[in-house]
Amino acid sequence: MSSYVTFNPATGRTQREFDSLTDSDVDAVLSRSARAFVSWRALDPTARASALRRTAEIYEERSDELAQAITTEMGKPLAESEGEVRLAASIYRWYADHGPDLLADEPLDPQGAQESIVQTVPVGPLVGVMPWNFPYYQVARFVAPNLMAGNTIILKHAGICAASSALMAEILHDAGVPEDAYINVYASSDQVADMIADPRVHGVSLTGSEKAGASVAETAARNLTKAVLELGGSDPFIVLSTDDVASVAQTAATARLSNTGQACNSPKRFIVLDKYYDDFLTEVVKAFEAVTIGDPADSDTDLGPLSSVDARDTVVDQVRTAVDQGATLHIGGSPLDGDGAFMRPAVLTEITPEMDAYSEEIFGPVAMIYRAESVDDAVRLANDVSFGLSGSVWGSDLQTAQAVADRLEVGMAYVNEHGTTLPGLPFGGVKRSGFGRELGRWGMGEFVNTKLRRTS
Ligand code: NDP
Repeated sequence: MSSYVTFNPATGRTQREFDSLTDSDVDAVLSRSARAFVSWRALDPTARASALRRTAEIYEERSDELAQAITTEMGKPLAESEGEVRLAASIYRWYADHGPDLLADEPLDPQGAQESIVQTVPVGPLVGVMPWNFPYYQVARFVAPNLMAGNTIILKHAGICAASSALMAEILHDAGVPEDAYINVYASSDQVADMIADPRVHGVSLTGSEKAGASVAETAARNLTKAVLELGGSDPFIVLSTDDVASVAQTAATARLSNTGQACNSPKRFIVLDKYYDDFLTEVVKAFEAVTIGDPADSDTDLGPLSSVDARDTVVDQVRTAVDQGATLHIGGSPLDGDGAFMRPAVLTEITPEMDAYSEEIFGPVAMIYRAESVDDAVRLANDVSFGLSGSVWGSDLQTAQAVADRLEVGMAYVNEHGTTLPGLPFGGVKRSGFGRELGRWGMGEFVNTKLRRTS
């Protein structure tokens, strides 16, 4: 059976089946992408920007249909799906607006010559391997800057979101991106490895698990191909001081349950100073209790299913293992009866370093709450994991909160907010959360040749 069969995770029912790429198609795809690169890169940047601007407009025009597609295939509540469509549109528009300037030649001090300039030059066909949790947003982060720069794209999306990946290709083509400058493929991991190993491919970007990232990075390194990796996270949410613990706890609960807890940069570990700990825990449990679980297409639903029954069972097992190893479960953690991939959101405390939950990512609606004895203890706990994606610090004393943010080993540190993603802000992590950056001018800098031209 093809892995490109989509299921509705709210019902367990099969949706659609898609033809997978055959091995003999791989070479043709690479040739098409390499040929398209020659003409796509030769266009004036404003022409490429026009295609991206039109892409943003079509996302907005077809927003209902796009939102419905991901709600059906990966279970995101409809209002969140609509928000994701808007965010993706804003990324295409941001690169359309800023791309031509970011690509302009940069004059340097000539230092003895007539002229020294730095040019930003595309490198060629790129492979993108993308996950199901934010089907449009993850693709936009990779595709918008790279099409703007003049690279061409071969996109392998997750099997779970095969229908929305077809929609994305259709929209880009309707917006004026040539068919072969953006090719959507239903490829296997082996075929992806063959593409990365091919000299016609000049870079690969993967968002997903550490396992997939390590596999892709290994192939890329063996072939001296540049890779960008956006992997997992176990982001800390540190509460230092507040006048309103109930409100901070509600914000924490909402952030943790957004996208049914399936976000790399979701706050997963809540590290709360002793003084606020008991009230914070009570309020988060209350907020989790109040959540309406159900059909993600229903506007009353707060929490939809996980992306698949397998994904749900993994999270339920992680909670069970934590309890077996001595953690305290305050609420939830069990699957709902029926065919959908639903579970009750869980709150865990008393997690110690010997337990698996202390160091692993839980990709679902589970809050782990830690008590910190002091500010230093909070920072120690926050940094005591192998991940380093983002983290937030909450405090009424901004100076102290910012000082703690500066001590976090993460790619993105927030004070009194968590996880804001905007087209102009860099996104990416350190440690085992990956390397490289997406979005803003940094996202445009990953797969380009920063080329010196010096004239004497
Ligand atoms: P994967 O990492 O397996 O999937 C992400 C993408 O990588 C998919 O397109 C997948 O394809 C592809 N892929 C997987 N293995 C390889 C490989 N060896 N070579 C090339 N491509 C590959 O994530 P899962 O869906 O299995 O989720 C598992 C865990 O990954 C989650 O629990 C979470 O911890 C993490 N994750 C992190 C995300 C993030 O935003 N950083 C997003 C999604 C998951 P296919 O679907 O066809 O297998």
